[in-house]
Amino acid sequence: MWLFSAWTWHRPRWKRDGWNQSKLHRRIRSLNSIDRRFRRGKPMKIREETISGGCQCGAVRYHSEKIFDNAHICHCRMCQKAVGNLFAALVAAPNDALQWTRGSPDVFQSSDQGERGFCSLCGTPLFYRGKNSGRTNLTIGSLDNPQRVEPHRQEGVESRIPWFSRLTAITDEAATGADGDGEWARSITATNRQHPDHDTDGWP
Ligand SMILES: [Zn+2]
Ligand SMILES: [Zn+2]
Repeated sequence: MWLFSAWTWHRPRWKRDGWNQSKLHRRIRSLNSIDRRFRRGKPMKIREETISGGCQCGAVRYHSEKIFDNAHICHCRMCQKAVGNLFAALVAAPNDALQWTRGSPDVFQSSDQGERGFCSLCGTPLFYRGKNSGRTNLTIGSLDNPQRVEPHRQEGVESRIPWFSRLTAITDEAATGADGDGEWARSITATNRQHPDHDTDGWP
């Protein structure tokens, strides 16, 4: 009897209460989502930092004097599709600070909760904007200086590609243009129609 009591005592409470594993996981998930809602409710820091960027063809350009401290990557399936990639890397500008300095993006309403902006001429994905969020999450790859904005959070992890964590360990091949006689790379450079990584007076 004593042995039985000791054994009972040492069992975790969720087991003593007759909880099974899936009930426990449901509870953990619901606590996580409460925690997420709490964090989402907190005001995000805004940094005074000038950013600019745009699409590949240069028809759409943007500029902001402020960005949120929310640089992140999102693995959700909708972001994967919207950017045609394994994840979306995003950083937000306040809507009232963001200026479209050339052209304007086209928008796809991807759900009742948000929309996705892109250049309709060249297809570059430019942003995700949540309804009533007051901010526009710009694609970090479309910034003129993407290296300056380092993501510090992962979201949408339910759809993270299983081999994502192994990507940095795969073999480094050569830099662009190192193959063959360089003719191919020279031709790309000579005929490059991509807008440069800074504002221009006119393009092309
Ligand atoms: Zn474009
Ligand atoms: Zn997402």
